[in-house]
Amino acid sequence: DGEFTTVADGVLTMGTNAAFPPYEYKEGDQVVGIDAEIAQALADKLGLKLEILDMDFASLITAIQAGKVDISLAGMTVTEERKQNVDFTDSYATGVQVIIVKDGSDIASVDDLANDKIIGVQEGTTGHLYCSDDYGEDHVIAYTNGATAVQALLQDKVDCVVIDQQPAEEFVEANDGLKILDTEYVVENYAAAVSKDNPALTAALNKALQELKDDGTIQGILDKYIKA
Ligand code: GLN
Repeated sequence: DGEFTTVADGVLTMGTNAAFPPYEYKEGDQVVGIDAEIAQALADKLGLKLEILDMDFASLITAIQAGKVDISLAGMTVTEERKQNVDFTDSYATGVQVIIVKDGSDIASVDDLANDKIIGVQEGTTGHLYCSDDYGEDHVIAYTNGATAVQALLQDKVDCVVIDQQPAEEFVEANDGLKILDTEYVVENYAAAVSKDNPALTAALNKALQELKDDGTIQGILDKYIKA
């Protein structure tokens, strides 16, 4: 196992989109949440300082490829398509795509999405991809982040929002008149993405991640933010 390098000496530079609670969100100027804490624990294990850059979700993979950041932790789902552009560490959490509707909506399950509905999604996410594939681009409106998609639902610009479950729960709690349908759309694995040019960093992160799983740190961070 070789030595890894980082974009800035002694620093693990992480990209994320801090509008995805509880995985990443802002408290004042600071990015906090599950991914921020896991990244801090990983950086500590690697003897690095952590720096977090906030950007659009759709820019993360390009930022890794361009050497602007070392990794992303962003509730990012491992997909075959993304694997062509970046490497992924082992998974540290699972996610589920769910459907948010307004109370009284005639959408009762995922099957109803086929009935000429307009679906709000976050640009570049798996929800965006699946809905475009399943229902056609014409039925999908992509917003730069989940919070904006939810605002569009509240303003009746879309009939529903397809997004990951934990942020969905936070958005529904923060806004009156919304609910999450019982149907799950797709189940996924979250992992950190790393440049294909930096396999030594991926290996070091995987070793650190395994230690943090074994000693209960990862589960502790998830439990702190995710309500049972
Ligand atoms: N899990 C979804 C994806 O990877 C959404 C992630 C996000 O919006 N931060 O596409």
